[in-house]
Amino acid sequence: MIVTITMNPSVDISYPLEHFQLDTVNRVSKVRKTAGGKGLNVTRVLEQLGADVLASGLLGGELGDAIQHELTSAGIKHAFSPISGKTRNCIAILHEGKQTEILEQGPVISASEAEDFLVHFEQLAEDATILSFSGSLPAGLPVDFYSEMLAICQQKKKPVVLDCSGKALQAVLESQEKPTVIKPNLEELSELLAFEVTNELPVLKEALRNERFAGIEWIVVSLGAHGAFAKHGNTFYQVNIPKIDVVNPVGSGDATVAGITYALEQGKSAEELLKIANVLGMLNAQEAVTGQVNLMNFPHLYNQIKVAKV
Ligand code: ATP
Repeated sequence: MIVTITMNPSVDISYPLEHFQLDTVNRVSKVRKTAGGKGLNVTRVLEQLGADVLASGLLGGELGDAIQHELTSAGIKHAFSPISGKTRNCIAILHEGKQTEILEQGPVISASEAEDFLVHFEQLAEDATILSFSGSLPAGLPVDFYSEMLAICQQKKKPVVLDCSGKALQAVLESQEKPTVIKPNLEELSELLAFEVTNELPVLKEALRNERFAGIEWIVVSLGAHGAFAKHGNTFYQVNIPKIDVVNPVGSGDATVAGITYALEQGKSAEELLKIANVLGMLNAQEAVTGQVNLMNFPHLYNQIKVAKV
């Protein structure tokens, strides 16, 4: 079983507007509200792949109930740990080809809720074959909370795919507990290393050789329309992808994480893993709904991807 973790989920609201006007009333008819958060996007893609997946993390309040209800209706297994705070809303206003986002910080987690979660998580890690942790940590949790979770996984010898950024990722890189995979994009990598990492081979190689990444088996740098660059052990890979018509690339990184997790669970080769990860990112980019992929197009894209050792 694959266990996905979303520590700060949300009910995502999308407001499509032809014109967004400031300082006046904007009326919207086609509102969409969905269970969101990066880990839930990963979960949805894994579910579509037919994987045995269970979603977990922290949920509270009415929106927490709504998320559980939505997952149950979609036939997705879930086991979240309850919190007294209220799960948040995140709003995306889609206007004139732009996306203006309003992201609530979310609930503040108490020390006892964090402890309860770790007890719950220990059992999940026991039952899992592989885990993926995605997204930011809610307020109240220590910045190295993912390291505490990784320590449990390390003790149980369970691989972890970690997709987070900023201080949470920095804390993991500074700790002894290493994930099996991280998947930064160029922006996240640049922030982490405090210099601008560009999409050029020598720069990428130099960046991934940084000692901060020592002990991490896989680093997959997703490059949007340019595919990906990866380091597996001491081997570097360049992934070239075909040009596609893009509808909505939001969440493509999450679909990529789903692909990496799935491929590792299935024992795929390095080359297959990179192809699966990129195909799923592309399939997500071809759909309007985040975390949705049309698997009918999988083989066609898969056969066009070139993975080269560089
Ligand atoms: P997000 O944070 O929105 O989830 P990300 O920055 O983590 O995204 P990206 O690098 O944008 O992730 O995308 C992940 C993968 O999805 C890419 O490696 C690529 O395979 C595919 N992809 C994303 N955008 C495009 C695009 N415009 N054209 C083709 N493929 C894309």
